[in-house]
Formats: sequence, C-alpha cells, structure tokens
Amino acid sequence: MTVYFNDKYIPHDEVKVSPFDRAFLFSDGVYEALRTYNNKFFRWDDHLKRLKYSLKELGINFNDFDRFKNIFTELADINNIKTDYSVYLQISRGVSFPRTHHYEDNLVPNVFSFAKPIKDNSKELTNGVKVILEKDLRWLRCDIKSTSLLPSVIANQNAIRNNAYEAILFRDDSITEGSHTSFFAVKDNKIFTAPLSNYILNGITRKVVLELCKENKIDSCEEHINVNELINFDEFFITGTTTEVTPIIQIDDWIVGDGKPGSITLKIQGLFFNTVKQV
Ligand code: PLP
Repeated sequence: MTVYFNDKYIPHDEVKVSPFDRAFLFSDGVYEALRTYNNKFFRWDDHLKRLKYSLKELGINFNDFDRFKNIFTELADINNIKTDYSVYLQISRGVSFPRTHHYEDNLVPNVFSFAKPIKDNSKELTNGVKVILEKDLRWLRCDIKSTSLLPSVIANQNAIRNNAYEAILFRDDSITEGSHTSFFAVKDNKIFTAPLSNYILNGITRKVVLELCKENKIDSCEEHINVNELINFDEFFITGTTTEVTPIIQIDDWIVGDGKPGSITLKIQGLFFNTVKQV
C-alpha cells in the first residue's frame, strides 16, 4: 500500500518515523476517519470541523487543511482504488528530544494518511450484530479524537473474543457509546442516544441520524441510557462512518426481541442509505 507521510507518497513499509515522535511515546496526536459515497467525501465539513476541534483542544499547531482533499484523492488514485474508500488521517504533535512530558510550542506535526476500499458489511447491516457490555475505562476527554485509544482497543478485543462486533461502554450506570461507534436505543418508537459531553465522541453518523429523525418526524432525544434498564428498550443500533447504521440483535447473552433487526432501526437505516445515495 502506498501511504502519505509528510508531503510524500511512499510504500507503507518505507515510512520512517522517529521514536521520539510524541504520538509514539505519549499517544500525543489526533486522527480522523472519513469515507466516500459515490466517490465524494461524506460530511467533509463535519469531519474537518471535528479535526480542528481535536487539534485546538490539544493545542497542536496545524493549519494546513486545504490540501487534504487532494491528498486523499491522490492516495486512492495511486493505490488504484476504484470503489468507495475510507481514509485514515493522523496528525501527531511532532518530535521532541529528549523525552519529556512537556513540549515546546514550535514542534512540527507529523502527518500520516492512508486510504483503503470499504469492506463489505452487508451481512452485519442486514442480519444485525452481537455486542457486549464493558465498563468505560477511557479518560474524561472522549470528545477529542485522540490516538490514545488503549481502553477502546481492550474493550473491542474483548468483544471479538466473545464473538461480538462491538463493546458498548458504560460509565457509572450510564451508557456512553461503543468502543468505536455511537449507541442508540429505541423504546415505544422513540430513539435515545447519550447527550454530547466530554464522555463521548461527537459522532458524525450520530448527527446524521438525529437530523434524519427530525426531518422525518421520528421522536428522538439525547438522554442518558441506564445500563440496568436496557431490558426495557425494544431495539438497539450502533452508528459510525464505516459501521453506518448497524442493528444490534444480541447484548451479551440476551437476544433482543425476536433476534432480528427492529423495524425502527431498519427505517433509520433506510433513510440513511437514501441520504448517502444522494451525496
Ligand atoms: N464513538 C467513537 C468512540 C468512535 O471512535 C467513533 C468513530 O471512530 C464513533 C463514535 C463514530 O463516529 P463517526 O460517526 O463520526 O464515525
């Protein structure tokens, strides 16, 4: 695979990064993940806004955003990607030597990006997935899309070990989100998702779903969901850039409803696909 690293397009195994890059030593960096539909970047402005927010919150000096569209398109071309694709972009604070927790303000960020074709997820979208519940062990700034992801990695690894797709996290008794997805529950045809705060990422697919609810007069709210009260809900689904709108049919050992994607979930999924088709 050819990747982008600091103004160069190079084979992925030829990238040279200093071990003193602060993302390597401290996870001191941010990232974004976006995708195309019909070869156009979906919700470009939202992704750019979130990236700028993450950089600002961590005080990483980076302003060179205008080239990104060209870089991503170039990555797809060079790698001969003909289908829709996802893009990973990482911006680290840069290299500081020797290792100290504090940093100088004039560091030069390292910029890394790669593109890959979207994996077929039609089975998960149609049949739904199993998730597990896990304690949310993340830090208190989950609103920043930082590369510091170890608790999410552990949670998702536990999910895979348990033949599940995703780990749904709870802090105290409140569901926050998935390890790499946003979480939704449905009760009496009303859609619930956790409110925006420092405890969750401002998911862009989450935002699209809430907009679709409003436009289509589907009752929705941003309210805490108690992990002990999940049993009172009728349906669940998760959302994300590549996860799209994926139904949940099992939580730990509990088969939700009749073990098939719920009707409201499928309605939202249908509305979502109509939206992305029109991109
Ligand atoms: N929540 C977390 C913790 C994530 O890492 C992600 C995506 O990576 C999401 C939610 C979904 O966000 P988006 O819909 O912008 O992809």
